[in-house]
Amino acid sequence: MYPNILRHPGPTPIPKKVELAMTQNMISHRSEEFTKLYQEATERVKPLFGTKQDILLLPSGGTAALEAAVANTTSAGDEVVVVTIGAFGDYFVSICEKHGLHVHKLEKSWGEACTKEDLAAFLKPLSNIKAVFATYNETSTGALNPVKQLAEAVHEHTDALFIVDGVSCIGGAPSEMDEWGIDILVTGSQKAIMLPPGLAFVAVSEKAWKVIEANRTTVYYLDLLSYRAWAEKSMTPNTPAISLIMGLSAVCDLIEEEGGFAKTVERHELMKNMVRAAMKALSIDLLTSDTYASPTLTTICAPKGLDLSAFLTHLKKKYHLDLAGGLGHLQGKVFRFGHMGYCFPSDILQAVSLIEAGLQDFSYPFESGAGVKAAQDVFLSSVKN
Ligand SMILES: *Cc1c(COP(=O)(O)O)cnc(C)c1O
Repeated sequence: MYPNILRHPGPTPIPKKVELAMTQNMISHRSEEFTKLYQEATERVKPLFGTKQDILLLPSGGTAALEAAVANTTSAGDEVVVVTIGAFGDYFVSICEKHGLHVHKLEKSWGEACTKEDLAAFLKPLSNIKAVFATYNETSTGALNPVKQLAEAVHEHTDALFIVDGVSCIGGAPSEMDEWGIDILVTGSQKAIMLPPGLAFVAVSEKAWKVIEANRTTVYYLDLLSYRAWAEKSMTPNTPAISLIMGLSAVCDLIEEEGGFAKTVERHELMKNMVRAAMKALSIDLLTSDTYASPTLTTICAPKGLDLSAFLTHLKKKYHLDLAGGLGHLQGKVFRFGHMGYCFPSDILQAVSLIEAGLQDFSYPFESGAGVKAAQDVFLSSVKN
């Protein structure tokens, strides 16, 4: 009877308007109705990426789009750099290694971000680097890499492509792909874009297209040249996720209703500040510093003296608040509070209040209401101006 309050860093809740859009009658992907839908949706979603390039739509999860970025730009034996600040950076490393690339791994400890200086120093002694890969928002830690600055380091020190995994933040974080010099930007539907899983997005710069044209790829289903050729006719090479593209159109309506994408970004920034203020008021540690804190998810350290796994199970069972646990070596040590997509300041007040209720049940020492008040203060100061 009680709805599950899903506050994960993906999948995320779906707005009713989007759900309804996805229930429309099926259409052929070779019809005029489809080309119109495709053209409008791919055009209207561009501000989320900050690009004038076409947005290619793959009927897949984010991982397939990451693999497409790797497989279309490189060949076995090529040297690449992967910046990894957590589990999803390591994921990019695995994809590159599987494709037989020679990977130079720039690793930072979990919770930190990679700075321009870190990357510049790492790139200096290297040569023949074909591509540099980085995660924009590290979903395992809630750290946001400064990709604009990383792009500068890549272009100042190499001729390499700069390829970015934006899966858990495009739609919630600012992105100026063209201006910043990102060559390929990839995301998925089920995180900040308010859609179910099953649709992936790839945007490619002019420079990257030249590399892709010259590269002999061995993939068929993920061949981006084929996607580009069909996109010219506002179609896809094979059957796309038609219902999800109908939903995407509704997502663009909602962003417009909010006042445009800049407003959506502001809301995510506000929710981040609310969550962080609340946890600080409860004397609960945050994994990342304010400087590199993600606008779409916050990774929170286990409250002192609590059995974290029991606490999360309790919150879900008693209060229907569904938070995500830690990944890799952070399992049992942190939990992840997703605040992206169809999530609002009122949802933050609700979740913080329920976290406080759970803390009381576990006899955690704190001043009741302190977290809610801190979050509310941040909210109210934003409403005033
Ligand atoms: C979720 C996620 C992925 C994987 O996406 P799937 O849709 O599960 O394939 C990759 N990178 C990041 C940063 C993610 O958050």
